[in-house]
Amino acid sequence: MSHLPIPTLVPIIGLEIHVELNTKSKMFCSCSNDPGAGEPNRHVCPVCLAHPGTLPVPNRAAIVAAVKVGRALGCSIRELSKFDRKHYFYPDLPKGYQISQYDEPIAERGTLTLAFPLETNTRDEAEIGIRRAHLEEDTARLLHDQDGATLVDFNRSGAPLVEIVTDPDFKTALEAKTFAQELQTILRYLGVSDADMEKGQMRVEANISVQAAGSFEIASGAVRPLGGCRLNNKVEVKNINSFRAVERAIEFEIGRQTRLIGAGESWPQETRGWDEDTGETLPQRAKENAADYRYFPEPDIPPFHPLALAGDSLLPELPAARRARFREEYGFSYSDAKILTDDKFLSDYTDAVMSEIIDWVCSLDETASDTGDVKEQKKAKIARLAGNWLTNKLLGLLHEHKKDIRRLKVSPENFAELVALLYAGRINAGGATKILAEMVAAGTDIDPTHIMEEKGYGQINDEVALAAIISAVINSYPAQVEQYRAGKEPVFHFLKGMVMKATEGGAEPAVVEKLLRAELDK
Ligand SMILES: [Zn+2]
Repeated sequence: MSHLPIPTLVPIIGLEIHVELNTKSKMFCSCSNDPGAGEPNRHVCPVCLAHPGTLPVPNRAAIVAAVKVGRALGCSIRELSKFDRKHYFYPDLPKGYQISQYDEPIAERGTLTLAFPLETNTRDEAEIGIRRAHLEEDTARLLHDQDGATLVDFNRSGAPLVEIVTDPDFKTALEAKTFAQELQTILRYLGVSDADMEKGQMRVEANISVQAAGSFEIASGAVRPLGGCRLNNKVEVKNINSFRAVERAIEFEIGRQTRLIGAGESWPQETRGWDEDTGETLPQRAKENAADYRYFPEPDIPPFHPLALAGDSLLPELPAARRARFREEYGFSYSDAKILTDDKFLSDYTDAVMSEIIDWVCSLDETASDTGDVKEQKKAKIARLAGNWLTNKLLGLLHEHKKDIRRLKVSPENFAELVALLYAGRINAGGATKILAEMVAAGTDIDPTHIMEEKGYGQINDEVALAAIISAVINSYPAQVEQYRAGKEPVFHFLKGMVMKATEGGAEPAVVEKLLRAELDK
């Protein structure tokens, strides 16, 4: 009996993502778009309850939002687009069909490029094709009570959704998770959705199949078998409710299919659900093919011109561009730039802080006479300092106080002033930390110079004052002083620490070191 060589296996991964738009009203009626409304069936009308004879009227704001999403993903926007009916039966869809878009989606054929620094991934850049982005209406929500009855809440029925379909271009589970995170950031920059996965505002489904390397090719987003090979079935995984679950569910499914291939078994084309508790995917139902939906054009809505409706609505600076600018303009490291741009509000705050700081550096008297090179070096140094204080100290304090940056009362001007005081040596890191803690804890915007002067957090570089503290420490620890003088160098750090403690961290460590050593070596 001969053994066939075991082929190298590779996963093919694509994503389908539904995003709830945050328009005021629903997709085809004027009901409030508030899917999470506490009281069930509060926002309903004959249109979104699917009464016969009602007519859907498309929400222009939703079309504009879909155009923005398409543009941000590098898609081309269709000159003419239309809605279609997608038929299926389910209790959350009393019309018997969902109004969606089939062959003429608003946006198609785009790309999103993901960067992976520091060898976290098998490749440092992944270009993900975007097949399409289209509009559709959401279904109602089913609630199963303890008695086994099922209730229907129509608040979500007819809420506008953008569905984004990628090409099967992901090579790893990490790439898929990173795509979802980047998409969330983009949607928030665009202001079209909060895209909170835990709240169901962004729902990710992953298509995964493990294949033998060399048995297929991916061309124009389509997977084709090569040389008469038969491809393994594709599995769709649903019920993924967090970014971590995107990665875990895909990794699990790759492992499951790989084990089945190893055992010489196959699997059906099916939809599986991710179970967060057990960490595995479980079969849900056999997958329908497109033909089963019997798509046809929605006769009650005429075709429309998305670009004419959207007009010249300009896109904001998008996360990737802002990240690149932060590195270029402010000299931030990749990771600082990433942290500071992941949240739109934080990145706007950072921009405001940096422009204040640069103005300040440029206005310094001594700077006026600097040559271009010296100016650049100073700018780079202060940018690194500011980047560090934003990402480490400020975000650390916000985390500690469980405070959202949106509720922070520290103005960019005052934060910039704190960094400037530090840069100019008027306070040291210890003093600045205390001042920032007070600024963050306060309910109002306080000037750091004011806190510094009032609390005496300024740097103690007055050598007379320091000399008095040093001689008090030397008198308090005669045994340690004896040991140091006998040649035990490590004791020096203890004594220096005592002096720093006595100044409450307010002294410049280098100055303390110089004076203390001079005193001990006398
Ligand atoms: Zn309605």
